[in-house]
Amino acid sequence: MNNYRAIDIHCHTNFAAFDEDRDEVISRTLDAGVYMINVGTQKDTSKSGVELAQKYEKGVYATVGLHPIHTDKSFHDEAEIGEGGSNFNSRDEVFDAEYYRELAQDPKVVAIGECGLDYFRTDKESEQKQRDAFIAQVHVANEVRKPMMLHVRNGQDGRSAYADVLDIIKSEATVLGNVHFFAGSKEDAKKFLDLGFTLSFTGVITFAKEYKELVEFVPDDMIHAETDAPYVAPVPERGKRNEPLFVTHVVEKMASIKGKAVEDMQAILRANTERLFKIV
Ligand SMILES: [Zn+2]
Repeated sequence: MNNYRAIDIHCHTNFAAFDEDRDEVISRTLDAGVYMINVGTQKDTSKSGVELAQKYEKGVYATVGLHPIHTDKSFHDEAEIGEGGSNFNSRDEVFDAEYYRELAQDPKVVAIGECGLDYFRTDKESEQKQRDAFIAQVHVANEVRKPMMLHVRNGQDGRSAYADVLDIIKSEATVLGNVHFFAGSKEDAKKFLDLGFTLSFTGVITFAKEYKELVEFVPDDMIHAETDAPYVAPVPERGKRNEPLFVTHVVEKMASIKGKAVEDMQAILRANTERLFKIV
């Protein structure tokens, strides 16, 4: 039996930003009755996420996958991979299905990803690499019968990564998934929901008013709360490094937008997570 009140379905305590105090952060989260899913973004963070999940008896889960940004060399985020360290260089990683398939066998691995398409700072050539890596990951998810953790971001010129991800999952996917950090339109949301995909929201809903309508729009049984820690800390923790415990602020905001008691919202979110990610 699990005994927890909330779960952060998408965070990265496996990232370099937590190197100094990772175990403290995880322990205070679990002590407060909050579970977490650490999301992998390339080979190293996928492996370390699985190792973290194994280290704790319960409450810490993992996903394994290749983030679209890491299919290209250009991107380097210190919070994720540290200060230019030699073994944590920026990626240009080609998706290695064998490697991820093996990691995915672990019972604590609850999804494949984060995978998808990110057109925010890319060119045509890297988009093709992203497509190839994404389709390969959909196939691994199909094989291992685990859902997908999707990362989708439109181009600054308005190119719709949401539309392209929808096309790919319609033609390739035989499993469901969640669209993390959903920032698409209501029309995009409806198309994912119609396919049975859930949508998750971060701390941005605590300070960006434009999310209110979207959160209201997503049916109660199709929504999740997440932090995407170490990024985007919610109110009242703005300006700090984010951490999974702060998901409680996201849940509170969601409850207020949906006009529910916090405990009721938590129960709904736990049920949604258990259904999609088979948290046991
Ligand atoms: Zn993430």
